[in-house]
Amino acid sequence: MSVINFSAGPAKLPKAVLETAQSEMLNYNNTGLSVMELSHRSADFTKIITGAEKNLRELLDIPENYKVLFKQGGGTGQFSAVPLNLMGLKPGRCADYIVTGSWSAKAVQEAEKYGKVNKVVPKLSKYSGIPDVDQWTLNPEASYVYYCANETIHGVEFPYIPETNGVPLVCDMSSNMLSRPVDVSKFGVIFAGAQKNMGCAGVTIVIIREDLLGKADPQCPVTYDYKVQAGNNSLYNTAPTYNIYILGLVLQWVKEQGGVKKMSENADLKSKAVYEVVDNSNGFYNATVEPCSRSRMNVPFRIGSKEGNETLENLFLEEAKQNGMIQLKGHRSVGGIRASLYNALSVDEARAFVQFLKDFQAKHQM
Ligand code: PLP
Repeated sequence: MSVINFSAGPAKLPKAVLETAQSEMLNYNNTGLSVMELSHRSADFTKIITGAEKNLRELLDIPENYKVLFKQGGGTGQFSAVPLNLMGLKPGRCADYIVTGSWSAKAVQEAEKYGKVNKVVPKLSKYSGIPDVDQWTLNPEASYVYYCANETIHGVEFPYIPETNGVPLVCDMSSNMLSRPVDVSKFGVIFAGAQKNMGCAGVTIVIIREDLLGKADPQCPVTYDYKVQAGNNSLYNTAPTYNIYILGLVLQWVKEQGGVKKMSENADLKSKAVYEVVDNSNGFYNATVEPCSRSRMNVPFRIGSKEGNETLENLFLEEAKQNGMIQLKGHRSVGGIRASLYNALSVDEARAFVQFLKDFQAKHQM
């Protein structure tokens, strides 16, 4: 059965990756074993993890003074790991958080357990954009500045890297990693769960500047201590081996497609095509995010009115499903529709969705 999967995550994987994984499932590299059965210290797995790191470094042009970690615990684990490792960088134990959606708000809840949190932007009544920089209050004494590059639930994406005047910048890139080139040297820490653009749930990538290692609070669990993990090449304890293997296959696939630059061009094409239909629908479809901070990965919208006509939205989901287009329901906290257009979703698949949007409007507009 052929479907187009618009899930926000765990999300669609490239077919070529799944086919390779399937063909190697029972006998990886003539070992007679599945990757799942290999020791994390075996020569075969060492090749898998070093290959994944090499490709990630190449794709993102990661400078040499940064370590790459492959961790368990998800993005949520990093909400705790970041303050546990960095809150003590300055004696005031305070950090700046730029809250633009549910995920950065959740990161605040965790950070508040370990220090003081300064909310940089005014409290928003709804998450539909990024307040102008002249409304921000950054604290020069902050240990770090934290933001989420792409708010998966609300579809708000930073089109720029915030300026922090030398304070280490920490970024949650869980849902737009590898969708555009980034200047890694501008960051202290970047983290991203794999299950949107990079693989399957269970492994989280952390990219950390070396001078920030070794500053963890004494009570930091060893599994979250960046210095310990970096010193052991992410193998202090058992790594999520199969997830790292899938991640490695995805990174190879991105390289073969033309790298992050190509992913970025595709993301532009796909998201612009969808937003164009939404914006030109005479109010039948209603975008929920301001044009200058619209995500290229997650496109949320309402149908029938700005607040959404639930009957029409349910009909949309039903008819989309009949056309093989699935997992389009908006997050339960937001409602409406959300189309996630991650790297593995092709331009042609996005075009098929655009055609469906047009057909649905033609059929149902009063
Ligand atoms: N950050 C972002 C931007 C996310 O989209 C998610 C999950 O969807 C998370 C963090 C949390 O990740 P996890 O569920 O792997 O802990």
